[in-house]
Amino acid sequence: MSNIITRCAIIGGGPAGYTAAIYASRAGLAPLLVQGMQPGGQLTTTTEVENFPGYPQGVSGTEMMEEFRMQAERFGADIRTGAVASVDFTSRPFRLELESGDVVVADSVIVATGAKASYLGLPDEEKFMGLGVSACATCDGFFYRNRRVAVVGGGDTACEEALYLSTLAKQVFLIVRKPFLRASKVMQQRVFERENIQVLFNTNTLGLFGEEVLEGARLVEFKGEANERVYDLDIDGFFLAIGHKPNTDLFRDKLALDAAGYIVVDSPSTRTSVEGVFAAGDVADPNYMQAVNAAASGCRAAMDADRFLQQQ
Ligand SMILES: Cc1cc2nc3c(=O)[nH]c(=O)nc-3n(C[C@H](O)[C@H](O)[C@H](O)COP(=O)(O)OP(=O)(O)OC[C@H]3O[C@@H](n4cnc5c(N)ncnc54)[C@H](O)[C@@H]3O)c2cc1C
Repeated sequence: MSNIITRCAIIGGGPAGYTAAIYASRAGLAPLLVQGMQPGGQLTTTTEVENFPGYPQGVSGTEMMEEFRMQAERFGADIRTGAVASVDFTSRPFRLELESGDVVVADSVIVATGAKASYLGLPDEEKFMGLGVSACATCDGFFYRNRRVAVVGGGDTACEEALYLSTLAKQVFLIVRKPFLRASKVMQQRVFERENIQVLFNTNTLGLFGEEVLEGARLVEFKGEANERVYDLDIDGFFLAIGHKPNTDLFRDKLALDAAGYIVVDSPSTRTSVEGVFAAGDVADPNYMQAVNAAASGCRAAMDADRFLQQQ
């Protein structure tokens, strides 16, 4: 067990954390980054990234994040494996206890712990991940041009994803558990008016099937009722739009969080409710969950941390 002292500790090794590390190290803060159980972050779970500027031919998510990490290390960022187990933001310098038992003592902290998409928990969701199953229409919709896709969910996000996909796909099915949509009236109207969206109310997904890639979903309508009907829907893409969970359990009662658990920042800065603690990426952004946005806010967090330290 050891005590590690740093000007700037970064929690999270995704696009936000690594970008913060590039900027903080170039600003001379010699940051220490703890990258947690998913080095490289969410992009390491996808195959091809085609929308990050600078990669005209596309790039594998894992390869891109490897390059982010190497760029941060080139300027001296100290990148550690392992996760942060607890934080103490009650006084400065802040204290982070790692799962290894090591303690990081930091003058400033950047939180970039990301978020997780929610899945239905079907056995085949993982099997077809990247082979038909996706939780991000903006990321993967392009691969389904002129194909048949389904979106699961009944809220604003699901309607937005369905509308977006309807501009690319031939046919979109919106699978809704309830007999109504939870989305705002205006979103509902747009969905109902779009010719190639069909809303399947009172419908649950029982499973997914396909040989190598996704070929369809087994659905049940009116589950458990007299008129229950089980049938197979042929689709090429299955998009989850049932929400995200920000990775903020560690910060409950330590930082101000919104009702959904996202860290509240004093936008457009990355300042949190604790002076000297900043937040970047998906953990503080339920709206623009894309790598380029996460990277940009990582840059802002490092600049905010640098300015804060200069004022001290
Ligand atoms: C399947 C999929 C495909 C996607 N495709 C695209 C795409 O094509 N283009 C695009 O722009 N976006 C895409 N996205 C979205 C993109 O991945 C996210 O917007 C982006 O990764 C968010 O970056 P982040 O740094 O905020 O968080 P994340 O990438 O979620 O990284 C969070 C980091 O925090 C770490 N962490 C968490 N808890 C702790 C802890 N206690 N201690 C230490 N570290 C911790 C994790 O290990 C991880 O390293 C995709 C997402 C998914 C899931």
